[in-house]
Amino acid sequence: MSANRYPHLLAPLDLGFTTLKNRVLMGSMHTNLEEQPGGFEKLAAFYAARARGGVGLIVTGGIAPNAEGVVFKGAARMDDEAEVAHHRIVTAAVHEAGGKICMQLLHAGRYAMIRESVAPSAIQSPITRFLPKELSDAEVDKQIDDYARAAELAQRAGYDGVELMGSEGYLINQFLAQRTNQRSDRWGGSYENRMRFPLEVIRRVRERVGSDFIVIYRLSMLDLVEGGSNWEEIVTLAKAVEKAGVTIINTGIGWHEARVPTIAANVPRGAFTGVTAKLRREVKVPVITSNRINSPEVGEQAIASGHADMISMARPFLADPEFVVKAAEGRPAEINTCIGCNQGCLDHVFEGRMTTCLVNPLACREDEPGVAAATGSRRIAVVGAGPGGLMVAAVAAERGHRVTLFESRTSLGGEFELAARVPGKEEFYETLRYYEKRLEKAGVDVRLGQSASKEDLLAEGYDDVVVATGVRPWTPPIPGADTAQALDYLDVLEHGKPVGKRVAIIGAGPIGFDVAEYLTESDEHAHQGKEGYMAEWGVDASFEARGGLAAQRPVPAVDRQIHLLEVRDIKVGEELSKTTGWIHREVLKKRGVQMWGGVTFKQVDSGRVELSYRGEDKVLEVDTVIICAGQRARADLADQLEGSGVRVHRVGAARDARGMDAKLAFAEGLELARTL
Ligand code: SF4
Repeated sequence: MSANRYPHLLAPLDLGFTTLKNRVLMGSMHTNLEEQPGGFEKLAAFYAARARGGVGLIVTGGIAPNAEGVVFKGAARMDDEAEVAHHRIVTAAVHEAGGKICMQLLHAGRYAMIRESVAPSAIQSPITRFLPKELSDAEVDKQIDDYARAAELAQRAGYDGVELMGSEGYLINQFLAQRTNQRSDRWGGSYENRMRFPLEVIRRVRERVGSDFIVIYRLSMLDLVEGGSNWEEIVTLAKAVEKAGVTIINTGIGWHEARVPTIAANVPRGAFTGVTAKLRREVKVPVITSNRINSPEVGEQAIASGHADMISMARPFLADPEFVVKAAEGRPAEINTCIGCNQGCLDHVFEGRMTTCLVNPLACREDEPGVAAATGSRRIAVVGAGPGGLMVAAVAAERGHRVTLFESRTSLGGEFELAARVPGKEEFYETLRYYEKRLEKAGVDVRLGQSASKEDLLAEGYDDVVVATGVRPWTPPIPGADTAQALDYLDVLEHGKPVGKRVAIIGAGPIGFDVAEYLTESDEHAHQGKEGYMAEWGVDASFEARGGLAAQRPVPAVDRQIHLLEVRDIKVGEELSKTTGWIHREVLKKRGVQMWGGVTFKQVDSGRVELSYRGEDKVLEVDTVIICAGQRARADLADQLEGSGVRVHRVGAARDARGMDAKLAFAEGLELARTL
């Protein structure tokens, strides 16, 4: 396949004083690397890998222009000469790798998780703990100067430009919206006054850095909050920032406090390119579109159809640093696709942990030694093709071993494949497509629909057997549960056993939620597309309304009554992903699923569940009971093989099912494969 499969995506973009080699921007994302010891060397390696992978332009994670603008205490700032030398490590590495890089300047305003936070008005955000201090006129002026100085320092550090973070509800956005700006001085009141802050930032930045320096303005095209901007204001702002001297306008979608999913896996791919297209007609500078673009096809389509001049992808570059080069060389099937799960990236950032990636455990470890070739080639059997088994098989073969992968199911993926059947998780199939290709390329002998017994394995004379056989469902000790003809999640997701109209799900962990979503999904919802998604979450599809909001479409009645029951006395679903859990809770709530936390089960029979809830005895009359209460390691094969002379390794849930998930299993698979 030739490079011209994506002719628009891979075309250079001439900015006058410099040319970008293609239309792909690696969007800003925080990694927590800069706050680590040796962080700048780590960051340099991280960005250089993406530059080598062919991306046209990189934007760093948000860096504050001053102490009051940091997102959290100790976060990176660009307000000191000493930072120039640190950042030169990053820019030199990127330039050496043939790339270009801009620093994102992000002032958090009222989103700063610090007592000293500041904002246009003293109005606390619903997602932070601190009431911000209202900036005085002189302090507003100081913030602007700090932006300009930070841009100048960035330029001296070798950056090719800066991106001014004007969206997502951060300080610049706070000045623009009535919701957060209730001032009556020259920085508030009329829209002209509210625009003064961003325009003055751009003007002073441009004054300091001169004309031959990229200035990207990330403009909030849909705030998705009450009291946000309307379309007329957005266009007025876009024309004004263009006039003030920006090089490129990037798209921002949704404030952090918005209750509309904007990047989760259940958001259709390319859902927001339409709003960029609408704005692009109003300005002459290049415009970048973003959000849920994770394949070269979607990127090509966005540019070819005139929706944008460039596309921005952030998480896809965690999943695969070589995204662009693989597309350019006609190898798109080899791209390790971001599945939009947030589990390794945003969830980690919100927990203050280092960023990683569920599908790429090597993300943010680019400074470490790579995977080395094996010293000798051994014959290795991997049993089980879930995440752990897939990773071991691929990496071991790539290292030079001769690998056979056995999977009793007829497809790759194990329970990961079952999860892909859950509405909103269809992206998981991309990971399986990627492994199919990777295993083929590495020469792994894949035997689907084939169990491997101890006798078979010993007869074939393998040197090593990796047992990656995953888990089996566990039935909790509730009286009657084992005899009540209850189903488990495999019966539902894998075997498609009939489920009645009234259902009790025992266990409200991630699998309980998955099963509840699966059982309440309608065909119509599954195929609703971008328009349906916008109607469901109350996004104005014309993009004209204030905040981009519209009334939510009423949820069609669900022909099934579900009780989601949890023993632990918690708010049901509170331990799901930090960044996507609220979406799953909201979806189930809209579908009328009853969620019960702190339940004591007394008896389960076919057709009824007896329980005690908040001191009251209750009986739920149901047609089907489904147990999703946990799992246990399925490691019988490993037990049988111990002592038989072959080297036995256990990986993933087959080693320890407690707390195991796909992210850990992929990571464990990699570490094990490195030692073989
Ligand atoms: Fe994408 Fe998930 Fe990796 Fe984040 S952790 S980059 S969302 S695949």
